[in-house]
Amino acid sequence: MKIIFLGAPGAGKGTQAEIVSKKLNIPTVSTGVIIRKAIKEKSPLGRQAEEFIERGELVPDDVVIEIIKTRIFEEDCKNGFILDGFPRTLIQAKALSEIGVEIDAVVNLEVPEDTIISRLSGRRQCAKCGLTYHITDKPSKDGITCDSCGEKLTIRDDDKPETVEARLRVYHKQTEPLINYYKVKNLLKTVKGKNAVEETSAEVLKILGVN
Ligand code: AMP
Repeated sequence: MKIIFLGAPGAGKGTQAEIVSKKLNIPTVSTGVIIRKAIKEKSPLGRQAEEFIERGELVPDDVVIEIIKTRIFEEDCKNGFILDGFPRTLIQAKALSEIGVEIDAVVNLEVPEDTIISRLSGRRQCAKCGLTYHITDKPSKDGITCDSCGEKLTIRDDDKPETVEARLRVYHKQTEPLINYYKVKNLLKTVKGKNAVEETSAEVLKILGVN
C-alpha cells in the first residue's frame, strides 16, 4: 500500500504513520526526519535546508522532490510506503503523480488549532532516530531519553512558539489546498485526530481497511 498522511504540524502524522507502518510492515518516509538528520550531519542538503526550517518555512519544492525520488525507489519501499510530511504543496503532489506513484489512500488528520498548539509545545524528539514523544500524552519511559535508542530527548527548534505560528500559517496557505486536490481524486479519508493516539489509530486502521 502507498499511503499519504496529511495534516497540520502536530496533527499526529508521524505517530499514526509509525503505527500503520508496523501493522503493514512498510516503511514510513518522513521528509522532516530526513531533513533534520541532514542538518545534524551538516551535509549539503542540511546546510541548504537549515535556514528554511529555522524560519518555519518550507524547504524549496525541488529539494524535497529530489529527496523523495531517491528514497521511495529504495529496496525497502518496493511493497509500499507511508509518506509523512510529503507532499506539502500542490507542486510536490503533482511531481509525485508525474513520477508514476499511484497512491492508494490519503489520510487527512483533522485536529483543532488549540490542540495543535498544545501538542507542539509539549513535543519532545529523539534527534538520533526521529521518534517523537509528548510530555503528557506520550512520554518516554523515563521522560528523558528515547525508549528505542537511549538518546537524550530534545525540543525541536521549530516547535518554539514563534516558529509554530509561522508553520501554521504556511500549512493553511500551502498545504491545506491538498485536501481538495486528493478529495477530487477520491483518495481522501478524513479522520478526527483530537483524541487519544489509540482512538485515532483504531479509526485510521479501520478507514484503511487494515485489521
Ligand atoms: P515535519 O517534521 O514534517 O514537521 O517537517 C519539519 C520541517 O521540515 C518543515 O517545517 C519544513 O521546513 C521541512 N519540510 C518537511 N517536509 C517538507 C516538504 N514536503 N516540503 C517542504 N519542506 C518540508
